[in-house]
Amino acid sequence: MEVYLAQPRGFCAGVVRAIEIVERALEKYGPPVYVRHEIVHNKYVVESLKTKGAIFVEELSEVPPKAVTVFSAHGVARSVEDEAAARDLPVLDATCPLVTKVHNQGKRYVSRGRILILIGHAGHPEVEGTMGQVPAPVLLVQSVEEVKALTLPADTPVAYITQTTLSVDDTRDIIAALQARFTDIQGPDIRDICYATQNRQSAVRDLSKLVDVILVVGAANSSNSNRLREIGTEAGVASYLIADGSELNPEWLKDARTVGVTAGASAPEVLVDDVIEAMRRIGPVQVSVLPGREENIEFRLPAQLAAS
Ligand code: SF4
Repeated sequence: MEVYLAQPRGFCAGVVRAIEIVERALEKYGPPVYVRHEIVHNKYVVESLKTKGAIFVEELSEVPPKAVTVFSAHGVARSVEDEAAARDLPVLDATCPLVTKVHNQGKRYVSRGRILILIGHAGHPEVEGTMGQVPAPVLLVQSVEEVKALTLPADTPVAYITQTTLSVDDTRDIIAALQARFTDIQGPDIRDICYATQNRQSAVRDLSKLVDVILVVGAANSSNSNRLREIGTEAGVASYLIADGSELNPEWLKDARTVGVTAGASAPEVLVDDVIEAMRRIGPVQVSVLPGREENIEFRLPAQLAAS
């Protein structure tokens, strides 16, 4: 079996930073360190941080007084920041700087009197964080149909922002529908979709031209991993999202001569290796890495940790 690895794949700069924040916090302050929500959407990452002394909670009410608390890469609503401040919790914010950028953009639009529309998936923590950061009601749309169903008058001054991990193509269609629907509209085009999401999506598109089957390594609750699988499927290639090698179904590879492998932005390379090992147990495997876009983005750590 020929195996092609997409390039780029796996960890993005925001995920690397978020994990490093937890690790450095554990070194500097000692365990336990409390993390609100999965630091990034990957069970392997969460479990390995747990073994080092991180405790994951969904609500700040579960954090004991004075305990060091980390906000996940997805960002949080202002109400969560306020609650942490009211309880005097020492907070390290691992929100990806690109998510913070979207928050700031949204705040800017509403300060200029525009009704804000967020293109994103209901219930995703990034969406909840973004909606909760903007000091005005935010309309969430998830599809072209939902744009059509908006009841605002066509000349309402509106602006839109987007979740960072959406499908570039779907988002383009939704933006076009918004532009057709409103006469006074501002927005950042698709630039809110982060560089890592865009690069991984175009790498999967390239991969899909070469292979019979695509395996996306990533968690079921990872937005960007799900989009990668969808892009493979839309390109006409049987595509599967798997957490690790144990989830590989040999049936998927029965008729495949070439298999493409990629990984979502929160999936570590060790899980890609694990999937390749699982393929080797089925038959001989030859691995090559596709040429792709190089990434050299790094984000700075929060000031409290930068010097440690
Ligand atoms: S996927 Fe993009 S927005 Fe999300 S953490 Fe990575 S770099 Fe940041």
